[in-house]
Amino acid sequence: MTTPVDAGGAAEVLSRHREVTVLCHVRPDADALGSSAGLARALRAEGVVVHHSFDPGVVPGALRVIPGTEHVVPLSAVPAHDGLVVTLDCASPDRVGDWGRLARSATEVLVVDHHRSNPGFGTHLLLDPEAASTATLVLDVLDAGRYPVDPDLATSLYAGLVTDTGSFRWGGVGSHETARRLLAAGAESTALGFELLDAHSFSWLRVLGELLGTARLEADAVGGRGAVWLTVPNEVVAAVDDADVESLVSHLQGVREAGVSVLVKEFLPGEWAVSLRSRSGDGVDVSAVASALGGGGHPAAAGCTMRGDLGVVVARLRELLR
Ligand code: 5GP
Ligand code: MN
Repeated sequence: MTTPVDAGGAAEVLSRHREVTVLCHVRPDADALGSSAGLARALRAEGVVVHHSFDPGVVPGALRVIPGTEHVVPLSAVPAHDGLVVTLDCASPDRVGDWGRLARSATEVLVVDHHRSNPGFGTHLLLDPEAASTATLVLDVLDAGRYPVDPDLATSLYAGLVTDTGSFRWGGVGSHETARRLLAAGAESTALGFELLDAHSFSWLRVLGELLGTARLEADAVGGRGAVWLTVPNEVVAAVDDADVESLVSHLQGVREAGVSVLVKEFLPGEWAVSLRSRSGDGVDVSAVASALGGGGHPAAAGCTMRGDLGVVVARLRELLR
């Protein structure tokens, strides 16, 4: 049975444990790693033994700027223990990866997330779809439990906030208030912002140019709102940084003629990670499309993983995006 909790309830769960495994989702983004690194740091400062990990557990180079990611250990190195497992930014149990062994040995599983599509799992669930980022929720929990927030912790949480709000383009007043708190606590935003939002190698520019030349516009798709598509084959994915591949979706999102963007990434041969974006306020809920394909996410940003022939994958997506 899953008990819904607020920030105070989540802090109470944390306070019961002296050994905690802190997990975030597979192929983590800055909110997954930032929120989990922030929580891990707060618990360690209280003398709690923390195992911070994800499946499989190698931090992407572009995200190593987030303080605390240097303490991430491979999932296979996390001992199964009784006590607590916390999952952060994971919209469903499968997003945590191969964590069954850890979930089974734990006496409690606390899920902290902000995806509307989350079906609810764990023994305790802090789910707030209105929260701008999972990092925001972690700050609420730490405040409720009166954990001190030092500059490194603040920087980790800021990483999740700045990226999940599209650099504060959405998230409203609350996200600016959270930012004010974190900056006042000493969060470093300049070098962090460069590494997370802007940085790439020079050689990426050539690959980017070639890839963008293959993007396709379907002006009539999605009830006339238009869709822009880009596919990244495995031979390209294998030769560049994952973060550079992920950054492609922001180029698609800027296309005026398309209300919906579809980025199809072949991370493994024959396995397609799909990123869907819809322009906020446009009324297209791409998380419904992703959910229909076994994934999930937010109304304006969602994803799923599909297997098999690219033509079939694209046809399925096109059918759902008519
Ligand atoms: P992205 O396209 O950046 O990978 O993901 C966009 C959003 O959708 C993120 O909030 C992410 O957590 C969510 N998402 C991406 N892939 C999946 C998936 O396979 N399942 C679920 N439930 N959510 C996903
Ligand atoms: Mn998030």
